[in-house]
Amino acid sequence: MLRAIIVCLITCSATVFADAPDHTQLIKIRDSVYMAETVSNVYVVTTTEGSVVIDTAPAKFAPEARKVLAEQVEGPVKYIILTHGHADHIGGIDLWKEPATQIIAQRNYVEFVNYVKRLQGFFAPRNAAAFSRAPEQITAWPGNFAAKIDPTILFDEKYEFTLGGVNFELFSTPGETPDHLTVWIPAYKVAFIGDNYAGAGMPEPMSFPNMYAIRGTKPRWALDWIKSIDTVLALKPEIVLNGHGDPITGNAEITRRLTRYRDAIQYVHDQVVQGMDDGKDVFTLMQEVKLPKQYDLSETFGKVSWSVRGIYDGYAGWFDANPSSMYALPPSSIYPDLVKLAGGPEPLVRLALEKVADGKPVEALHLTDVVLSSDPKNPGALKARIKALESLQKDCENVVEGGWLTYGITKAKRELPSDSAN
Ligand SMILES: [Zn+2]
Repeated sequence: MLRAIIVCLITCSATVFADAPDHTQLIKIRDSVYMAETVSNVYVVTTTEGSVVIDTAPAKFAPEARKVLAEQVEGPVKYIILTHGHADHIGGIDLWKEPATQIIAQRNYVEFVNYVKRLQGFFAPRNAAAFSRAPEQITAWPGNFAAKIDPTILFDEKYEFTLGGVNFELFSTPGETPDHLTVWIPAYKVAFIGDNYAGAGMPEPMSFPNMYAIRGTKPRWALDWIKSIDTVLALKPEIVLNGHGDPITGNAEITRRLTRYRDAIQYVHDQVVQGMDDGKDVFTLMQEVKLPKQYDLSETFGKVSWSVRGIYDGYAGWFDANPSSMYALPPSSIYPDLVKLAGGPEPLVRLALEKVADGKPVEALHLTDVVLSSDPKNPGALKARIKALESLQKDCENVVEGGWLTYGITKAKRELPSDSAN
């Protein structure tokens, strides 16, 4: 199950899912609230006047979730609520939708799903690379606003309705995506928070969030995320239900976990802003900003250094105040000249191997970039590159980073001429 959760966390917004969960489980949260635990959770809340479905799982796993929950559904499905527009939460809408069903999302959902569709040609190879598989078939560019918009009710800050005497309050809580919402049922003290406590299903210590997903995302805005967690905490929930993983129960434990998470985001954000104001560049801050032990978060899912860069770039965009960067020619444009100056690739390959041996695999990677830019099949550089990537992988604890290192190794091995494999 954990593997499935991890895969799903990585692929949120992708339309492909690598692994099936062991099986879909039905969990009774309390009277009238049920959960189907699959790659992402599907919830049903029953009332005397019908049922409310919260999230619908990815298309591949939605039928199983529907089947598992079928007996719990009472009366018509009056509402489907989408905590956000990631593919792993909206794939089963059609399985639940009845003629009179209202589908509710936060208003940013519309642009969010259009953005994912608009850039499908960009995302497809990146998702494929991370999982070492063939990219999905991309058809002609669908246009800027081609996504299917299922919601029939969109709201900005808050939306409320009552069904069968049960009051449902929906709050805009942007975090992992700009369209995130929280469903709050005051009578049950239950909050459904989507993926804003990302990695909820992963073992303790929890991971720092993926504030910038390196497959490519718009910045996940730290200050919004912090405010959204505060919104949830202010409700004083006794049960928090996540898009993935287990419920968190008891207000004290919920407060402990969400506060720790929020404070860690705040800490990293503030360190970056302070560094920017002190004139530090992004790479310096990626090296300098470390999460203090008191937050007790791992980096198995989100990496602090990627988030630092995400926050920095989110505020400042691409220009690094170096006049060289204003132009369309990148540093790599003079790599062939460097190879010539070195008298050929051999000294650079030699240096790359020394760097690996010296525990500096990233520098080795940069050196192989120099050689491979003009000679993409240079066996020496490819072998040094594989060594550097393998060295990084040996110490890698982050599941996303591991995927990309595997991709790099596979790609380099594929490029290696067959007569020089050893
Ligand atoms: Zn998700």
